[in-house]
Amino acid sequence: MDLKSCQVLVTATSFGKNDPTLRAYLESQVGEVIYNRTGKPLNPAQLADLLPGIDGFIAGLDSITAEALQAADRLQVISRYGVGVDNVDLEYTRKENIIVTNTPGSNSVSVAELALGLMLALIRQIPQAVQATRAGEWPRINGLTLEGKTVGIVGFGSIGMQLGRRLSGFNCRILAYDPFPDLPYASEFGIHFATLDEVLHQSDIISLHLPLSSSTQGLVNENFLNQMKPGAMLINTARGDIVDETTLLNALQSGHLGGAGLDVFCQQPPDPSNPLLSLPNVLVTPHMGAHTDGATNAMGWMSLRDCLAVLRGEAPQFRVR
Ligand code: NAD
Repeated sequence: MDLKSCQVLVTATSFGKNDPTLRAYLESQVGEVIYNRTGKPLNPAQLADLLPGIDGFIAGLDSITAEALQAADRLQVISRYGVGVDNVDLEYTRKENIIVTNTPGSNSVSVAELALGLMLALIRQIPQAVQATRAGEWPRINGLTLEGKTVGIVGFGSIGMQLGRRLSGFNCRILAYDPFPDLPYASEFGIHFATLDEVLHQSDIISLHLPLSSSTQGLVNENFLNQMKPGAMLINTARGDIVDETTLLNALQSGHLGGAGLDVFCQQPPDPSNPLLSLPNVLVTPHMGAHTDGATNAMGWMSLRDCLAVLRGEAPQFRVR
């Protein structure tokens, strides 16, 4: 297909934010580019307004439902700017022969660094310390070290592996659970594979790095949390719906869990009345795991290349099965 006759929709709001050549290159290749100017992921009705006439779609965290996609009359490719594809109705795209791609590994270092940052901030109570010091107080805050503790990684793919190798410098014991274990990588960094039960029973901190799917939705339920050690902490930089938020709230309020670090929520942004936002032992961030210079450049170029490849009639490099 002649690229100059193609229209591309870009909804990923940080696309090209660090590297202006990305937008310039895309605009030089295709007939027209339409950008999401709202600064937020789009809902199905907003997408349905934009999709008619669109050939290629570089997508953020929008709700790409069947309802939205029914409005598409020329769409060949949804190129996810990111890793998770849980926001795309894959059954519908398969039925309609719309190719879906993503950008594996593009943001794994950035998300792993955020997970580590949330861990350190929680165990040293850094936000509370900053607030108190700014207020003229000089409290003695007694934190925990990572050294000597056990950290559990649930989901040992690109992000889990990057987190594991970083944790290996902290002299802690690292356990990992994944149905498809990469044993050589784990042994290189002193990481031990274990069953999920072992990870839950033995870890002082558990970090989630698995995708959201019908089998992982609500995985962190009462049974999961009850098996965690008293005082243990949970980090979720994966997807909000993997965790049952009401049960997590109960576990934090009862004191069974010592704290949580959450970059993702069931509803995004969370309702301001969501009680998780006001618990002192819960650190919350605005789904910013991939918001770094390195990740936005990698996600941008990888999603752009695959979008253009499909429009040219070539095979994309990172097609989602
Ligand atoms: P990946 O596909 O490389 O790794 C996921 C791993 O999870 C795989 O090894 C898989 O075998 C494992 N897994 C699947 N089901 C599991 C289960 N039930 N229990 C344990 N492990 C299971 O993906 P990744 O790049 O590491 O990303 C993981 C997830 O992180 C993404 O799907 C996405 O939802 C999320 N993510 C969040 C951000 C953010 O900004 N916070 C950014 C990127 C990705």
